[in-house]
Amino acid sequence: MNRRQFVSTASGAAAGAAAFLGFPHIVRAATKYDLIVKGGRVIDPSRKLDAARDVAIAQGKIAAIEANISADAAETIDAQGKLVVPGLIDIHTHVARAKESAPLCLADGVTGLIDGGSQGADRITETIEVAKAAPQLCRVLLNIGRAGIIPEGDTMDLKRADVAAAKAAIAAHRDMIAGVKARLSRDVAGENDYEVLKRAQEVASAFHLPVMIHMGQTISPLSKLMPLLKSGDIVTHMFAPPPNSIVDESGHILPEVLAARRRGVRFDLGNGRTGHLRWDIADQVLKAGFLPDTFSTDWTPEGRADQIIDFPNVMSKFLMLGMPLDQVIACGTINAARSFEVFRNKGTLKIGAPADVAVLELREGNFDFVDNYKNTRPGRQRLVPRVTVLAGKKVAARA
Ligand SMILES: [Zn+2]
Repeated sequence: MNRRQFVSTASGAAAGAAAFLGFPHIVRAATKYDLIVKGGRVIDPSRKLDAARDVAIAQGKIAAIEANISADAAETIDAQGKLVVPGLIDIHTHVARAKESAPLCLADGVTGLIDGGSQGADRITETIEVAKAAPQLCRVLLNIGRAGIIPEGDTMDLKRADVAAAKAAIAAHRDMIAGVKARLSRDVAGENDYEVLKRAQEVASAFHLPVMIHMGQTISPLSKLMPLLKSGDIVTHMFAPPPNSIVDESGHILPEVLAARRRGVRFDLGNGRTGHLRWDIADQVLKAGFLPDTFSTDWTPEGRADQIIDFPNVMSKFLMLGMPLDQVIACGTINAARSFEVFRNKGTLKIGAPADVAVLELREGNFDFVDNYKNTRPGRQRLVPRVTVLAGKKVAARA
C-alpha cells in the first residue's frame, strides 16, 4: 500500500465513522473531488494559461486549477509529461452517418462534434437520431440539397436546393440543427453555386443560423461568392488549391476574403481526403498571415485510416507548418466553441465549465504528414490522444 492509498483508506474510515455519528460535512470533505488530472502541462488558450497545473473536477464541472492540489479525489489521472487541454471540438465531420463514429472521435479527445451536412431535408431525421445517440454533444448542419450528399452532385439539379423543405426541416428540429451547409464545388453544384448559396443564406438567416460553405474548385470566383456571407458564417476547406483559392497567383489573399474576415466570417481547415488541402497553398496562406480560425477533420470512417487518422493528428499538421502550439490548441478548442452557439460554455477549462478534457501526448520524432495530393512533409512533433474526460468521467482510451 502506498501513501496515497493509506491516506484515502484512513480518511475513508474516518469519514464512515463521521457519517455514522451524523457529520455528513466531513464525508464531503473526505472526497472533495471526483477526479484530479494531475501533473500535466495545462494549455487553455481561453484563459491564456500554459503552466504545470492540476485540474480538479467535481460533479461534472471544472472545480479547481492549481499548481498542486493535495485534496482527496475518487480517481486520479496521471498526466505527467502530457498536455492537458479543453476537450477538442470538431466543427466539420460526417460522424452522423453511422452510430459507431462519434464514440471513436471521443476516444481521440473530441468532446464536441458537428456533422457538416451529410443529409438534407429528406433524410435529416436519420442524422439527427445518430447525433442524439452520440456520447458527446453533437449537432448537425442541414445540407441545402434536400437529398444530402449524393454522387451526382447535391445541387447539380437546382430544384434540390429547396428553400421551403429546408425551412420546414429546421423548424421541426431547431434544437438539433446548428446551421446550413452549402457545398459549392463544380462537381457538387456546377453552375448553380451562387444561387445555391443565396438559397442557403435565405434559409439560415430566417433562423439566425450560420451557413457553412464548402469552397474550392467552384465555377464562380470567391470574389462573387464571399459577399453573400454574413458574420458568423464559416468557410471550410480554406486551403483548397485552384481554381478559386483564397490566394491569387502572387500569394495575396483576395480582398473579398479579407473583407469577409473583417465582418466576422470564419475560416476553417476541413482536412478531408480529396481536393481540400495542399501544402503549397497552406504555405502561401499562412505566410500572408491569414491563420485559420478552426481546424476540422471532415471526418469519415475512411479518413480514420487515411490522412485524417484523428483530430490531434490533423492539429499536428499545423505544428509542422509552423503555427505555435497555443494557437493550434486554440483552433481545436475555444475558437471552435465560438463557432456555434451550442458550444458556448465549452472549449475552456474555466471554473464551472463542463469538465471536458483531452490529455494529449506531444510526441517528438519523425512523422510524415500527407496533404490531399499525396505530397509528404516531414514533421518533428505529433499530438497523440491519450485520455479523454467527458463531463467529468474518464473515457476508455483509443484502442
Ligand atoms: Zn464535409
